Amino acid sequence: MAMLLDDDSCYRAMHARDRRFDGRFFVAVASTRIYCRPVCSARTPRRENCHFYATVAAAEAAGYRACLRCNPGRCSPEGAEAIVYSGSGKLSVRRCKSSQGPAFELDCRPPYDWKSLLAFLAARAAAGVEEIDHEAYRRTVRLQCNGREHFGWIEVSPAEKESALRVVMSPSLAETGPEILDRVRRLMDVSANPVEIAAGLGRLGQSHPGLRVPGAFDGFEIGVRAILGQQVTVAAARTVAGRFASAFGTPIDSPFASLNQVFPAPEKVAQLTVDHIAPLGVLAARSRSIIALGRAIADGTIQLGPATDVAAELTKLRALPGIGEWTAQYIAMRALDWPDAFPHTDFGVMKALGETNPGRVLKIAQPWRPWRAYAVMHLWRSLHA
Ligand SMILES: [Zn+2]
Repeated sequence: MAMLLDDDSCYRAMHARDRRFDGRFFVAVASTRIYCRPVCSARTPRRENCHFYATVAAAEAAGYRACLRCNPGRCSPEGAEAIVYSGSGKLSVRRCKSSQGPAFELDCRPPYDWKSLLAFLAARAAAGVEEIDHEAYRRTVRLQCNGREHFGWIEVSPAEKESALRVVMSPSLAETGPEILDRVRRLMDVSANPVEIAAGLGRLGQSHPGLRVPGAFDGFEIGVRAILGQQVTVAAARTVAGRFASAFGTPIDSPFASLNQVFPAPEKVAQLTVDHIAPLGVLAARSRSIIALGRAIADGTIQLGPATDVAAELTKLRALPGIGEWTAQYIAMRALDWPDAFPHTDFGVMKALGETNPGRVLKIAQPWRPWRAYAVMHLWRSLHA
């Protein structure tokens, strides 16, 4: 596994005890000769004593012993989600009442800028798959769980209690509740620690406290939409995404008139040809890109989820036809749960910074590491002030 972060960014990531870094690097402490996961509940060691390693094996090879408290030997990107997070503090989930289906409340760390997040999702909502109704976000769902496919819908809205979200799901999804809640947490960036992130962003983070990075409910869907969004406006990408869903998705019934399609599965898209996709108004090169992504996900070559080795997935994404740095970073930002993702050639990012040179954009962004994905959101948000 390659190191994506420089040492100072690792130190800041460790200070935040943000679970998204867990399994993605390890910290070794020279004074104790012990190495830890970045979320370890032990006191944060002094910067000058810390060395950072991409893997457990590298830390051990350098002569460090595993911490007994956080047990880094048990931690791999794949296993990271299964471990209890003591350092970052657990956010509670409560079951609540709804006549429509199973309902829950998820706590978020305040402040939480729901309005900006909802506006971002509204501007991109694909017809048939997603809708925004006043304060609520709704979408259709297809989920593999216990060897079966489940179809249904979810609704997310602010709870009465401050800094909490209310999640309602269709009765058809009752069996998949924990998985749905995990996905909603990522989509709505519930677990972020906004105070640490604001400290890392400095002045850039001040106008919209609690601004979140919208994640992915479904990694493949975000990947397709990143490709459809290459060099076109958000509105144009949204229109084509709706057409794509309606052409190749699965029709479903829901109590909401405008939710009637489930986004196409990678297995389905893997079978398509350019002649199927191009008539929707998608360039042939982008159609090929989408099919290649569908194949890579369907056969397991690429996994777009939170528990992946970011550097390895980025390399695999860039190897697909028509996926360059912008698309790979956008996918990392939304579907790989990577807080430091940074599409530095993005038109909006450059415009917000008043820069035309992507190299200079990278330099300007250096102090925002490891929170550059949040910097992107603040820069985009500043264009709609
Ligand atoms: Zn530890």
